[in-house]
Amino acid sequence: MTERAANTSERHFPTGLPPRIQHYIGGQLVDSIDGSTFDVLDPVSNETYVQAAAGKKADIDAAVEVATRAFQEGLWPRMLPRERSRILHRVADIVESRDARLAELESFDSGLPIAQALGQARRAAENFRFFADLIVAQTDDTYKVPGRQINYVNRSPIGVAGLITPWNTPFMLESWKLGPALAAGNTVVLKPAEFTPLSASLWGEVFEEAGLPNGVFNLVNGLGDDAGDALVKHPGVPLISFTGESSTGQLIFGNAAPFLKGLSMELGGKSPAVVFADADIDAAIDATIFGVFSLNGERCTAGSRILVERPIYDEFVERFAAQAERVRVGYPDNPSTEVGALVHPEHYDKVMRYIEIGKTEARLVAGGRRAEGFETGNFVMPTVFADVKPDARIFQEEIFGPVVAITPFDDDIEALELANGVRYGLAAYIWTNDLKRAHNFSQSVEAGMVWLNSNNVRDLRTPFGGVKASGLGHEGGYRSLDFYTQQQAVHITLGKVHNPTFGKSSAEQR
Ligand code: NAD
Repeated sequence: MTERAANTSERHFPTGLPPRIQHYIGGQLVDSIDGSTFDVLDPVSNETYVQAAAGKKADIDAAVEVATRAFQEGLWPRMLPRERSRILHRVADIVESRDARLAELESFDSGLPIAQALGQARRAAENFRFFADLIVAQTDDTYKVPGRQINYVNRSPIGVAGLITPWNTPFMLESWKLGPALAAGNTVVLKPAEFTPLSASLWGEVFEEAGLPNGVFNLVNGLGDDAGDALVKHPGVPLISFTGESSTGQLIFGNAAPFLKGLSMELGGKSPAVVFADADIDAAIDATIFGVFSLNGERCTAGSRILVERPIYDEFVERFAAQAERVRVGYPDNPSTEVGALVHPEHYDKVMRYIEIGKTEARLVAGGRRAEGFETGNFVMPTVFADVKPDARIFQEEIFGPVVAITPFDDDIEALELANGVRYGLAAYIWTNDLKRAHNFSQSVEAGMVWLNSNNVRDLRTPFGGVKASGLGHEGGYRSLDFYTQQQAVHITLGKVHNPTFGKSSAEQR
């Protein structure tokens, strides 16, 4: 079923949009040094609604210079954790108090359903709150060698952190990097995704109101090849935290190598949801529908491959397809919309190409076309392919849209081979009521994160990250603070100096 939003028959325009989107450097909104801009489209009409400043190397240089000064001379890295924490809690308060506005802008710019964009705005506030709490709870190790030595960890911020983020849930993903990078006392240069720069333009004001010193937070908009590339190659930026496609991650690895930078890579996924015959099928169907169609399917941890044990396969496919057909596709600003518009026409074309490929590779059981009643914009019906072979492109490649591949299996060994038979390893969802199988399977599946009989419910203290082509390094909880800090080991002798003497005089040797 597709449905037109009842309250909007026209293209929805939020009021009070900025006349243009600028960079934010040293507490000032500024245009690009060479004056260049790029078009920003809204995904319902695919018309340009604003121009954004297109940052180049010179703009990145300017931002890094300001951030370096704020790091070397400013208060922020030298504040007590409690003082930084207070400011970050104020950031969380402000974000929370503006959640409706944030969701409106995010939904308009990215095509995410408004109800889900609201959830992401609150998650962004929670990310700040979490790291504000963590930084005051941070303890560091001290090691005692009785009577001889004490060795302790001296933790300190590293410098200017370069943060590069994608267009899916942009504001929330920016907060996931900004929170720990700032909590740890670094200064930052953020390069948001060029498809969705609108919500990021709110950060400057939020930080100013919260009392973050000028120059600590800086933002440069622009294309990946220009602004992103310049940030990666800037010798004054020792850290890059990147979230995006695996192929972009590979390129950034290479480009950062000559500078020996610290890298955190959150990359693509093609995560399996494995449903055994003994599972609670009602719960598994609800969870797997949500797991692949929420956030328009533009979700790194989407369960985009569903592996189903043969005895329940036909029933599962039939019920899943029927429910997928009922998922409400609608205008992003309609509160009842479940799948909105894909972010950009280029991405829409990519997803539609995969749907056409899928039709040649497998059995289409739901969707497979543009949503009816939407002549313009990037509206795709939730699409379900069954009997998908493991060598099919729609099984192997990340589509990043509302498209799912369902494949049968006969036993645990085959299920594991199928689950692990792709280059990615971000998340896995396992549905079974057999305790031993649940744990054995979880521990064998090649995935950075596993949810057992559960949807993707995050606990911010746990490690977040992928294996294989899905990433390198783990963030989450103290791991994020580890990435954004330097840990120096300081060793102190307490007793007699442990010091073998080379070059002893002959008198000493006797
Ligand atoms: P993308 O790789 O195209 O772009 C991500 C960011 O990198 C953008 O800001 C872009 O401008 C920048 N960029 C592009 N080329 C660059 C270069 N040469 N140097 C420096 N920066 C460059 O990704 P996308 O299409 O925006 O996002 C979707 C991808 O992100 C999917 O693959 C998805 O799985 C992944 N993702 C992963 C996670 C995770 O936590 N693992 C979370 C969300 C999204």
